Amino acid sequence: MLVLGIESSCDETSAAVVRDGRTIESLVVASQSDIHARHHGVVPEIASRAHVEQILPVVSRALHEAGVDPVHSGLSGVAVTNRPGLSGSLAVGVSFAKAYALGAELPFVAVDHMAAHAYAAQLVNPEEPPLAYPYIVLLVSGGHTIIAVSRSPGELEILGTTIDDACGEAYDKVSAYLGTGYPGGPVIDDLARRGDSRACRFPQPKLNRNDNRYDFSYSGLKTAVVHQLDRFWNDEYPRTRENIAAAFQKAAIDMLMTRVENALEDTSIARVTAGGGVASNGYLRERLLALADQGVEVVLPPPLLCMDNAAMVAGLGHQMLSAGVRSGLDAGVTARVASFRRRGRPHPSQ
Ligand code: ATP
Ligand code: MG
Ligand code: FE
Repeated sequence: MLVLGIESSCDETSAAVVRDGRTIESLVVASQSDIHARHHGVVPEIASRAHVEQILPVVSRALHEAGVDPVHSGLSGVAVTNRPGLSGSLAVGVSFAKAYALGAELPFVAVDHMAAHAYAAQLVNPEEPPLAYPYIVLLVSGGHTIIAVSRSPGELEILGTTIDDACGEAYDKVSAYLGTGYPGGPVIDDLARRGDSRACRFPQPKLNRNDNRYDFSYSGLKTAVVHQLDRFWNDEYPRTRENIAAAFQKAAIDMLMTRVENALEDTSIARVTAGGGVASNGYLRERLLALADQGVEVVLPPPLLCMDNAAMVAGLGHQMLSAGVRSGLDAGVTARVASFRRRGRPHPSQ
């Protein structure tokens, strides 16, 4: 069973064909990061226009590379991200997916972008048994910082989220401050490798509630880097960009890791994965993979599948279509994160 996936929630236009929910037959990603670089962030109007230009060539290439004829496709369905994201960007992918599904007489399903990131672990090593449910998932990108439990495809139980900036956003802001461009993550990751994190000990945030073992906060760390280096700097070390990057990265990733360790301890679930652009960070991956020493099964998608991509959308779409889920052609787009159930609290719809 082949499913076409389409992703356009932010600044990547992507299409993929996935077989049986696990095997990637083709994956095309057209990133706009060059276009947004001079604005130090994604400009929504520019993003939607770029999606309009890219969507047809990207989908055509994905079908072609998978050996699928666009008209007599042999596809079993079309899946598309319809939430959360930039409304104008989402609308391009959703409109295209609906039109194609209608024209090709295929079933159509709209999927949640965060749930799709959580599903990406299932695309790793398709010839081996999949990562068993439930698993802990860390979703870290420019727009989101979430720790959750996934108990089945498409479902997330949120343990914690950021109360202010997202982790990737902090990377981007620190990079802008250091004058090293956008997106900041890969540059800081690289600079940090050549720096010494002992040069500066940034404090971890004190979250208001004492029982808060899962929420994140990055605005204080960003402020400390930009305005309070004098306060925290160890003067035995030179103030190089490398040392600043290393100290920032250590604090940023420590925060993620303590939440992951809390989740592993509290839930007794010994399986973990990660998704989102920050999940391609070398230091975070090292720290997560080291959990294997404590008997934790760690499955990290390769960087291409951590970033926004349509393969995760097609994979999750396959599971939903197989379970009989269909979306109507009146399906809309939603900018905000879905109201998944928060652990220990009633479901928002109740
Ligand atoms: P969304 O939050 O809706 O998924 P997004 O476009 O912000 O949207 P991604 O494309 O998944 O999400 O991730 C981009 C973010 O990931 C940027 O903030 C970027 O700086 C960060 N990032 C990318 N590579 C790395 C890295 N190696 N280390 C740290 N951060 C990284
Ligand atoms: Mg992006
Ligand atoms: Fe994403």
